[in-house]
Amino acid sequence: MTSTSMQRSLDATPGIVAHGKDLGFAHQLMETLAIPVFVLDSNAHVLIWNRACERLTGVPAEEIVGTDHHWRCFYDHPRPTLADLVLQNRTDEIRHIYPRHGKPQVASSHLSVETWCDMPRAGKRRYLAADASALFDQHGHVTAVVESLRDLTEEKMAQMALEKLATRDGLTGLANRRCFDDTLNAEWQRALRQHQPLSLLMVDVDNFKAYNDAHGHLGGDECLKRIATAVASEMRANDLVARYGGEEFAVILPNQSLKGAAIVAERIRRRVEHLRVPLYAANGQAPTQHVTVSIGAATAIAGLENDASQLVAIADAALYRAKHLGRNRISLPLAEPG
Ligand code: GH3
Ligand code: MG
Ligand code: MG
Repeated sequence: MTSTSMQRSLDATPGIVAHGKDLGFAHQLMETLAIPVFVLDSNAHVLIWNRACERLTGVPAEEIVGTDHHWRCFYDHPRPTLADLVLQNRTDEIRHIYPRHGKPQVASSHLSVETWCDMPRAGKRRYLAADASALFDQHGHVTAVVESLRDLTEEKMAQMALEKLATRDGLTGLANRRCFDDTLNAEWQRALRQHQPLSLLMVDVDNFKAYNDAHGHLGGDECLKRIATAVASEMRANDLVARYGGEEFAVILPNQSLKGAAIVAERIRRRVEHLRVPLYAANGQAPTQHVTVSIGAATAIAGLENDASQLVAIADAALYRAKHLGRNRISLPLAEPG
């Protein structure tokens, strides 16, 4: 944007010019800021689009100043920017549009959010922190809204990687025990609120010590990975499969009856069996035994008088029975708890 066109835009905004500010200085200040900033006038048209904003969005000021197309620089579908929400006094909508937002401050004339932006012209999604503040004339009317942006993509990616490390099992990539515990408790609370059943499967690899003895520990690790993938492939979107420990996996099935849980358990059992992983090293002979799993199931309607650990205990007891009855089978609780 040329300085004349900037001056023209600023001149067209009575609120700013009326304050008698040195606009040349204001212009220079905006342009030299390393922080991406844009300003909307009271009609939601872009008044200022600084160089850092050009660099961030890939959209030159000439193209955007004087238009109300600024949202296109951030999103690939129509969506108000934070500055638009402040300008239109729609601050109460912030929690629907931006899940990560700060509390509206100072009579809602300032908003802060963090959000992923599509950045269609820059061609790369970025995670941005945005702050938008209204400017007022002496009568208290909004004359403009300033939005400043910070690119937090690197920090967000590092945080997501750490979160993934903290919740994933290193060998199988499944949820780890900690994630399982947190999810089970959260699902328990949800089941309690919604009076829905919650089911759990405990899946244990049969004779895995023998597998390790025959194939070595690294061979055992590979086998665990294959079983993990097989179990995970039977999950619906809201289910969670975790590595509970060693050669044991746990599956949380929200809003699933015992009958439904038994069907899932049988599908998992069969899928592992169909992997046909030889239990013993070949020794030139055709393998006669394959790796299998035993599964214990439990279902509860969450209640104040019981807790999530009881669900684990019931599924564990059922798993124990499946082992006792000869392995490669599923087992249900003796009596369904209320
Ligand atoms: P069962 O049918 O009764 O479950 O017998 P099992 O041999 O599977 O059970 P046991 O508890 O005797 O042995 C479990 C074995 O799993 C022993 C342990 O070395 C192995 N194991 C546990 N975690 C891992 C792991 O991360 N990698 C490998 N390779 N082996 C593991
Ligand atoms: Mg085992
Ligand atoms: Mg075990």
